[in-house]
Amino acid sequence: MNADLHCHSCVSDGTLTPEALAQRAKDRGVELWALTDHDEIGGQHRARDAALTLGLPYLTGTEISVSFCGQTVHIVGLGFDPDNEALKRGLAATRGGRRERALEMADSLAKAGIPGSFEGALKYVGNPDLISRTHFARYLVETGVCADTSEVFRRFLTEGKPGFVPHRWAGLRDAVHWITEAGGMAVIAHPARYKFTANEEHALFSEFKSHGGRGVEVITGSHSAAEAVRYAEAALEYGLAASRGSDFHSPDESHTDLGALPELPGNLTPVWEALQDRIQRPA
Ligand code: AMP
Ligand code: MN
Ligand code: MN
Ligand code: MN
Repeated sequence: MNADLHCHSCVSDGTLTPEALAQRAKDRGVELWALTDHDEIGGQHRARDAALTLGLPYLTGTEISVSFCGQTVHIVGLGFDPDNEALKRGLAATRGGRRERALEMADSLAKAGIPGSFEGALKYVGNPDLISRTHFARYLVETGVCADTSEVFRRFLTEGKPGFVPHRWAGLRDAVHWITEAGGMAVIAHPARYKFTANEEHALFSEFKSHGGRGVEVITGSHSAAEAVRYAEAALEYGLAASRGSDFHSPDESHTDLGALPELPGNLTPVWEALQDRIQRPA
């Protein structure tokens, strides 16, 4: 099954509209799709309507920013009720503070000799509540400071580099509870991206499970083949279902296009098995 359960629209830090993403997913052979904007579900009805009109089965989605052991972890939610009030409140609280953080990021970049980045980043922002590092990265590429967004995240905006501002996101327990209490499944996003020690990673997986988390991304645009093997083993070890998603943001920036991913290993349980009754299907 060509499921792509992780991507971003202009409602967070992607460049395409939910409608254009639905069309792109359909054109590239995706058979089950979810839009997972960061800390935001404002695009869910648009994405679902566009997908169903194209005959593409849809799962609701989001990607929640969480602080855990001094790092940022992303928790994907799938198949929840997009009108759930507690989830909407939790996401609004998680988004809160992004603007102040962005102003501090711009101050830090200005001190490093790059003025005007707050206004510059804002030009790329589709949702005033959701200004992210990606929008700053686009401005640094536009102005020629860096050749591409990967160079930006090597030289700026990350721990120890100009433009980095530590931020307190949601708690792991809260994020998992918001998703599961809204009827959805919580999934650890791109686990290989975190720089945890073995003990910290074990704490993440076991605490996530104890809070009711049930899935982990194994096949993602963020994993190498070796990392996919490693987290396939972790899925079995921790008894988690496996997810698959490109993390597509933009035709100009993303290495992995919608639906262009290896299959999930056959010995894993796909997340969509337990989400059958949450999938919205075309009439
Ligand atoms: P924020 O939520 O504002 O901290 O921004 C996080 C976003 O920055 C991620 O969702 C990615 O879109 C982007 N990002 C972070 N690290 C990298 C990287 N190394 N290369 C490209 N994009 C990155
Ligand atoms: Mn992003
Ligand atoms: Mn992420
Ligand atoms: Mn993502």
